[in-house]
Amino acid sequence: MDGSRTSEAPPVLILLGPPGAGKGTQARMLEERFGLVQLSTGDLLRAAVASGSEAGKAAKVVMEAGGLVSDDIVIAILRDRLAAPDCAKGVILDGYPRTTAQAVALDDLLAETGQQINAAILLEVDDVKMVVRIAGRFTCGACGEGYHDSFKIPKVAETCDCCGAQQMIRRADDNAKTVMSRLDAYHEQTEPLISYYKGSGTLRRVDAMRGIAAIQSAIAALTESVVN
Ligand code: AMP
Repeated sequence: MDGSRTSEAPPVLILLGPPGAGKGTQARMLEERFGLVQLSTGDLLRAAVASGSEAGKAAKVVMEAGGLVSDDIVIAILRDRLAAPDCAKGVILDGYPRTTAQAVALDDLLAETGQQINAAILLEVDDVKMVVRIAGRFTCGACGEGYHDSFKIPKVAETCDCCGAQQMIRRADDNAKTVMSRLDAYHEQTEPLISYYKGSGTLRRVDAMRGIAAIQSAIAALTESVVN
């Protein structure tokens, strides 16, 4: 398994990296540019929390503490989402997998449909700077465009540059204390996946301490090379 595509199976890209590395921003770019579907387990879990389902109730407590939601819950949510018809265009996984068990489950799920991972793109960042990055970020609740108090300020205060809505939202877990727990969870449970994907020949590294545009071009070039 070296990342080259077999037959016409839809592409599967993974964005790896600690919280605040820019996975969501870059996944949205890949979605627009390559017609792939962004699949964020964080978003799916926040939707489950908002729906008040049993899985959502269990996830809420863990998410507020900055820990990882149980593999059983996350894998079930991912399996359902991957089965939706739009995923036939190909997917970018943003925030999944986060544990080795999730990576193995993903390989098994993809094997069922003759798919495989084209690339696991690691966004390499300086952890300490992530806390500042995360603590200042907010999103347009209408279209999902991301902003930041210092690095990407809307042209008109509180108004989305893309869709004009005035519905900016800040995530409850984007505070300094929870971010530290999320970084610990990353190092302990997610970082081992770097070796996992190195072993399968799909790991690609991108310096993600540069500006958003430079990171975008690097990821786009990499995606071109594995998707087309
Ligand atoms: P994110 O939006 O990717 O930063 O995720 C927000 C929170 O959702 C994380 O801090 C975890 O509590 C939970 N979460 C998201 N994806 C996963 C996953 N693949 N495995 C376990 N927990 C997850």
